[in-house]
Amino acid sequence: MKFLRANAPLFPLERVRQLAREKFGLVGDAKALYSERDQNTLLREADGRAWMLKIANIDEAPEAIDCQIEALRHIERVDPGLPVPRVLLTRDGRTTGQLEAAAGRRHVVYALSFVDGQIAAERELPAGLLRRVGAIQARLGRALRGFFHPAAGSRELLWDVRMAPAYLPLLGLLPDPQREVAAQILDDGIRSVLPRLAALRAQAIHGDLHGHNLILDNGGDIAGIIDFGDMIHGALVCDLAAALGDLMAPPDRIPQVLENLVRGYNQVTALEADERALLFDLVGLRLVFTMLVNAFRLSQTPEEPNYAADAGFGGWDVLCALRALTRERFEELIDVACGLREADTAPAVAQSLLARRKRLLGSRPYLFYDRPLHAVRGDGVWILDDTGRRFLDCYNNVPIVGHCHPLVTEAIARQGRILNTNTRYLGAQVLDYAERLGAKSGGELTACAFVNSGSEANDIAWRMATAWSGAHGALAQEFAYHGITEAIDAISPSAIRIGALAAHVRTLLAPDGYRGRYRAGTPDLGVRYAEDADQAIASLAGAGLKPAAYFIDSAFMTNGILEPQPHYVAEVFRRVRAAGGLCIADEVQSGFGRMGEHFWGYQHHGVTPDIITIGKPAGNGHPLGVVITRPEILDHFVERTAFFSTFGGNNVSAAAGLAVLDVLENEDLVASATAVGAYFRAGLEALQRRHPLIGDVRSIGLAIGVELVLDRLTLEPAPRETLRLINALREEGVLTGSEGVHGNIIKMRPPLVFRREHVDIAVAAFERALTLL
Ligand code: PMP
Repeated sequence: MKFLRANAPLFPLERVRQLAREKFGLVGDAKALYSERDQNTLLREADGRAWMLKIANIDEAPEAIDCQIEALRHIERVDPGLPVPRVLLTRDGRTTGQLEAAAGRRHVVYALSFVDGQIAAERELPAGLLRRVGAIQARLGRALRGFFHPAAGSRELLWDVRMAPAYLPLLGLLPDPQREVAAQILDDGIRSVLPRLAALRAQAIHGDLHGHNLILDNGGDIAGIIDFGDMIHGALVCDLAAALGDLMAPPDRIPQVLENLVRGYNQVTALEADERALLFDLVGLRLVFTMLVNAFRLSQTPEEPNYAADAGFGGWDVLCALRALTRERFEELIDVACGLREADTAPAVAQSLLARRKRLLGSRPYLFYDRPLHAVRGDGVWILDDTGRRFLDCYNNVPIVGHCHPLVTEAIARQGRILNTNTRYLGAQVLDYAERLGAKSGGELTACAFVNSGSEANDIAWRMATAWSGAHGALAQEFAYHGITEAIDAISPSAIRIGALAAHVRTLLAPDGYRGRYRAGTPDLGVRYAEDADQAIASLAGAGLKPAAYFIDSAFMTNGILEPQPHYVAEVFRRVRAAGGLCIADEVQSGFGRMGEHFWGYQHHGVTPDIITIGKPAGNGHPLGVVITRPEILDHFVERTAFFSTFGGNNVSAAAGLAVLDVLENEDLVASATAVGAYFRAGLEALQRRHPLIGDVRSIGLAIGVELVLDRLTLEPAPRETLRLINALREEGVLTGSEGVHGNIIKMRPPLVFRREHVDIAVAAFERALTLL
């Protein structure tokens, strides 16, 4: 194997400047750029135009350089819109010049326009951009199909797939099992791929589109494709195979990269059946070449740090993931991308799950995202789908201490092996748990009733309240949600699809300072909103009813995550109590530190409720609901009814609940929610400054709402854009949801183990998704 050592020329900058001036008439700032083999200098002229002056490696064949230059000139003629470098002629009208080196040898020198921007290798490319990259690559292929240069056909290029036999002697450089797998791929390649390759359409190809040769502009779009140094005459599909092999890292992105890159490519140049059939093998060969070239370079020049770094890059991990994906699935994804299968792009497994779901669980599946996620594993802040892709979970408030927290899963498993029965036997765990919850609530709220869900907790709370007050009227926030039982559904206006509010229910205005009746700047905003309770209570009285209870979600989650308004809740509580009702803090959303700073959401409002209900986060996913109240309220209730829930407070549930409290305390997650929430907010506010679609950013701890509007003055809601953004974020690997009466608010409630690094990932995804929306 011919291996070119990386002895780049190193002329003094002053000499380079002189060369630029004399040969190309270029005057400006000169800056040396890193190149492995050539000496590259960036020259920026006073008018801003920038050029790359290249002093080629002394061993570089002049005809190979001529081939690149002529290809660029050809592209400029046939497809001037393609973003590739332009060739600057010398002052005497030639494409190259020469520079004398020692011993009478000469370097070829030439100048290309410099493509400003960032290399794509530093980012994960979103779906839309991948499609555009595919389309640009296909256009590049089209532009080159009429191009001829003898050097393209005669050169021996390391990366040419036809070189596979030359790689066999290098296999020994790989450890097992890499060696065995690589040997098999090379062997199959030589025996069955290369003969078929010879029958495919062939032409001059760029052949080396990877993250370092793809330049992005500030908006994250394609600024240019550079480096025509690996141009060769070969099968057109090798261009796409090389890009796939190089852009598919990290491995969890394989399906996404594959589908989108191929889709974009195929829209410009339809792939032929024989090409599609070879793509899997060609990508495998490219990855094996990468592994062997890196291993070889490292063995030859162990002192070169870039080779050591590259040795771990791409190849093996991606190859393993590719094989795990299977050839069948790979080809299926290609077919979908090429429009040869169902227009619906949902993968086959998801499709069949969806069909079964409709058959078994009702015709109206209530699912997230246009492309529903097939979740198969959870891990901290991550959810993994059936292809192994990781999604950053910004949405789920149930796994409050992170998906599958080992302390919680261990507690559940341990208790499950010992005993799991009900509260009609004596047991200490449920009492320990009740004591811990009571201590969190402080004061008089110390008596617990155990159930299995938030809805059940609210249902029991409602029964306690009607029993205690003897009244039957209910108060809740407009567009509130409290659960699914018949009684609670009636006080969940956001769940109404058909019909009107029940006769015993009145709603209170949501204290929304952004788009509500009273807006930020109104004096005593909280008190003004609270006055609405007078009208609601009077309306109940008009129907001969008194309020038994007022339900409040302290985070106002369904109202779009509203920040606490001073005095609002205290003023409503005062009015409700004066009318004889109890105040029920539904902490299903806001509790367990979700809002940072305090354990309970109501503490942000400076009030103490009569009853607290919890569900979702209490068991970190294990079904667990609790009603916490004053002993006299509970006693009053149980004296009148034989209250017992078979599963409520069972040993395993209690063990899960205790473990969740332990983790919250041990990992100091409430404080973390405060700090990380503030950091998240700052990131979103920075986005708001750049993206007019973001009308408002609200957050309390890790309860976060981003309200999208079409017009910041009229506040016209943007529900369609919200859905598009949520779906785009899902494609970017970030899970969020929508909320609000207009459906124009992005709702986020990540597990409290969310850290700053996760915020950075989420904000970067927002940026990309918003830019491409
Ligand atoms: N209350 C609130 C505030 C909720 O958000 C929910 C669920 N989204 C419930 C009660 C009902 O809880 P569950 O689904 O566990 O019955």
